[in-house]
Amino acid sequence: QATIEVNGLRKRFGPTLALDGMSFTVRPGQVTGFVGPNGAGKSTTMRVILGLDAADEGHALVGGQPYVSLRRPLTHVGALLDAGALQPGRTARDHLLWLAHSQGLDGRRVDEVLQQVGLRSVARRRAGGFSLGMRQRLGVAAALLGDPPVLMLDEPVNGLDPEGIVWMRGLLRSLAADGRAVLVSSHLMRELEDTADHLVVVGKGRVIADADVTDLIAAA
Ligand code: ADP
Ligand code: ADP
Repeated sequence: QATIEVNGLRKRFGPTLALDGMSFTVRPGQVTGFVGPNGAGKSTTMRVILGLDAADEGHALVGGQPYVSLRRPLTHVGALLDAGALQPGRTARDHLLWLAHSQGLDGRRVDEVLQQVGLRSVARRRAGGFSLGMRQRLGVAAALLGDPPVLMLDEPVNGLDPEGIVWMRGLLRSLAADGRAVLVSSHLMRELEDTADHLVVVGKGRVIADADVTDLIAAA
């Protein structure tokens, strides 16, 4: 099933306690906003979910399984972690083809996802010349490549212009409306309050609020 379960994660980097009992669930059919100041542990949580960092304690499951045990992970979870991470010499299209092939997928969805993120007209341009906003879109295209039921996007609105922000909101809404579980982080509550169904607010490596947006508004 399309869920992310984060249970009691603790993680230290030297003297820094980055995660201090981080626990929450991301449910299918919802955009879950992951909100907190810089340094609160959002990126580290996502990296642990993806097996890029090891937790000292606790565990994270994607669709009931540890990420590392997933075969063809791109078909289970799509992630945008660092929009700068692409090969500048490749065209946008070749970047996605390379990524698909490296994961044992064919390239059938490449043109579709380029269309979906609005990069069709620049698909044959070198990604090295892309603006940050275009890189964000390309990163989202990569996350959508395997048509995964679970998506995780770290600060996807960074570098987008106002039109791009509206586009991103619509995309996240439609991905959740199709039944996907979508986790999206931001250090700004206002970036997520119109987009998210559910908010997980974090500080100092732990959850300080976890509620449906409608309940939060009713309580305010
Ligand atoms: P956020 O994504 O909410 O901004 P991070 O997960 O990036 O927070 O960081 C949480 C804390 O862990 C911060 O204090 C950060 O400096 C620290 N941290 C993250 N990654 C590393 C690392 N590789 N080495 C040392 N400290 C790190
Ligand atoms: P974000 O703002 O999205 O949390 P960062 O810029 O904090 O991302 O982190 C980018 C990379 O640098 C990550 O791989 C993270 O683990 C690493 N990092 C973050 N903080 C530190 C730190 N204090 N020392 C070393 N590496 C860090």
